[in-house]
This record gives sequence, structure tokens and C-alpha cells, in this order.
Amino acid sequence: MEYSEIMVRYGELSTKGKNRMRFINKLKQNIKHVLSIYPDVTITANRDRAHIFLNGTDYVPVAESLKNIFGIQAFSPSYKVEKNLESIKQAVQEVMQDVYHDGLTFKITSKRSDHTFEMDSRKLNQYLGSAVFDVLPNIQAKMKGPDINLQVEVREEAAYLSYENIKGAGGLPVGTAGRGMLMLSGGIDSPVAGYLALKRGVDIEAVHFASPPYTSPGALKKAQDLTRKLTKFGGNITFIEVPFTEIQEEIKEKAPEAYLMTLTRRFMMRITDRIREERSGLVIINGESLGQVASQTLESMQAINAVTCTPIIRPVVTMDKLEIIDIAQKIDTFDISIQPFEDCCTIFAPDRPKTNPKIKNVEQYEKRMAVEELVERAVAGIKVTTITPQADSDDVDDMIDDLL
Ligand code: ATP
Ligand code: MG
Repeated sequence: MEYSEIMVRYGELSTKGKNRMRFINKLKQNIKHVLSIYPDVTITANRDRAHIFLNGTDYVPVAESLKNIFGIQAFSPSYKVEKNLESIKQAVQEVMQDVYHDGLTFKITSKRSDHTFEMDSRKLNQYLGSAVFDVLPNIQAKMKGPDINLQVEVREEAAYLSYENIKGAGGLPVGTAGRGMLMLSGGIDSPVAGYLALKRGVDIEAVHFASPPYTSPGALKKAQDLTRKLTKFGGNITFIEVPFTEIQEEIKEKAPEAYLMTLTRRFMMRITDRIREERSGLVIINGESLGQVASQTLESMQAINAVTCTPIIRPVVTMDKLEIIDIAQKIDTFDISIQPFEDCCTIFAPDRPKTNPKIKNVEQYEKRMAVEELVERAVAGIKVTTITPQADSDDVDDMIDDLL
């Protein structure tokens, strides 16, 4: 037998009272976006569960995609069976014979939402249980903690059998916490920061600063590829490219080397904040962490932060580099992050940036520049695109093989 649908149980959102329907609709939308790479799959969602109809699509890759989507607590693939006793019985026998091995225990848990069906759930349990003994005389029934809990659900349109319960990603559906701007470089840390913000329901928009011709198209593509990797957790992500060349040249010309990094970051922060305001974002998220290099001291963080009072979430701030790399590998961004394309910061970064920049000095240097106009021009020049999920390249290879 082949799986016909997947039953999805919601995560933490079950505790959210009257917001429940808003959460569920968001989750449904996110699942739709993530599963859009499987054109035949359809989805419905009600107060208690969502149902994903495979319509002939292979179950395995769909399940892999589902495992990533935030807001899903668990899911079960199910077999659809014609709603009559004989068909249900045969299907139950077939499934149990398929999964049975020596020593395995089982129980049947029936549920009847169609109350006109000829047997109630208690009778159905007994009837189907004895049907299992007919074909597997050595199997043991066990009411508490059986190896296989075969769930039989008699609904209006059909009956459904399921016995697997697969753990979902947990977290909150992306978008239920509001919008935040993720400052996304091509590095290892910011995609991980983005992932962690997504996990708590933040609808991130990726803001990337590019300084062509100093930065290459490859660096831009890298940031876009990283963004695409992040779409598997909750669907489409808006990608915002900011033209940053003019500002970097201006800083280079007007300020001493030791302050380039701090000034650059302050401009990035101002611009991101302006974009946030225009696009109704509530917070800024970045990949800053505490460490030994200059951009990572608390003094530096304070100098950069001083240009805004918007809340800034720094999901990786207290993590060790190895912990961050661990997550980057898990979410499959690491290999992209280590591609050797120079970021705008790497190119203009001096060998010895100040580890304890003085705000007074910083402000002095900024007086030499038309800060407001520079920021405005950069914001006016942004390019906004939508990044959508894409089948993994392995899948694409398979598809190409299929075509040949
Ligand atoms: P990452 O690995 O994310 O690049 P990092 O450890 O290299 O971080 P920095 O280079 O000091 O740290 O950057 C700190 C943060 O500033 C980044 O995590 C990112 O949020 C932001 N940032 C740096 N460069 C860019 C850029 N070109 N576009 C957007 N944000 C950037
Ligand atoms: Mg970096």
C-alpha cells in the first residue's frame, strides 16, 4: 500500500488561545510555500490538524521537507481506505503483516468522526484486533506502550490508517512573531542567526550590502543561495540588496583605517533600520557574536548599536564558533558560507581595526560625511526580490536523469 496523505499535529501554538486560527493559517501558508516544490501536493488545515494530500507524490522527500517546517510538532503518514468494514479489515491486516517481526506488540486505536458508521470505536478496536490475530497468531496485544499503535480514523469521506509518528521541527510558524530584518552577509554566523529567528516565528527579510565592483556577483549569489537555504523552514523570504559602494568609498576617503570597520557597521545599521521602518519590521537580527576580533568586542557592539534604539536580536552572540558551525552544518548553509567570495567588509577591512572605538571619535569622523544623504541614496537604491524554495540539487539531478 502507498501513503495517500500526511496528518500534521501542531506544535506550541495549541497554547495560543484565540490567536489559534491566525497561527494555523500562517502555518498552512508556510507549508504550502515549502511544499510548492511538489506541484501535485495539496493541503487543508482545521483547528486540530492539517492534512497534506500526496496525490501520487513520493512520500519520502515530502516528509523530509515537512521535518524542517517550524510550528509542526509531529506528523503521521496515512493510508486512505474505502469506508467499509471489509476494506478496513483487509488494510489493517496488510499493514500489520508488513510491519510485523518477532516479539512486536500492538494495539488498535480507532476513532469515529462519522457517527453513522456501523461500528463505534470500541467495537471497531475489538473487531480489527481479532482480524490481526487471524493473520498473525503470535503477535501480542499491549494496551500501554505497544510497539505499534495502529490508528484507524473513520471520517466522512473515507477511513485512514496510520502507525508512525514522526517528530517535527517544533518552534513557531514563521510570521507569527512579526517581521524582522536579518543582516545577512555571506559568512557563517548570520544565516544561523536567521535560522534561529525563524524558529521563534520571526518573518525575516534578508538585507545584504553589496559593493560592486569591489564585491563580485558571486558574493551576491552566495547571499541569495544562503537565503534560499533558509526558505525550507517557513517558505518565501524577501531579499533586499543594498548598494553600498559609494558609502564604503566615502568612509575609506574620510576616516582613518582603524575606524573603517566601526563606521561601516554604523552605516549598515542605520540603513537596515531605515528599511525596517519602511517595511514595518519590528526588530533587526544580526550574526554578531562575542569574540576576540575587533568587530566582536562589547565596546564595538556598543558603538555600532548607538545609531538606533530599535531592538537588535543577536541569536548567536554567546555561542562558541564551533557551536555555530555545528548548526550551520545541520541547516546546510556551511558549505555555501565557506565559498571564497569576498564580502564588502573583508575587502575594506583594515588589518588592525580598533577593538575599543571611541564614540566621540566616531562622531567626529562622521561629521566629515553627508551621513543622511548617503543613507537616503542607499535606501532609494535597494533591490527587492522574493526568494522561493527550490528542490535540492540532488533532486534536480534526479529530475534531469528522469528526463533523459
Ligand atoms: P558572519 O559570519 O555572519 O559574516 P562574522 O562573524 O563574520 O559574521 P562580522 O563580519 O563582524 O561577523 O559581521 C557581523 C554581522 O554584521 C554579520 O553577522 C551580519 O549580520 C552583519 N553584516 C556584515 N557584513 C554584512 C553584509 N555585507 N551585508 C549584511 N550584513 C552584514
Ligand atoms: Mg562576516
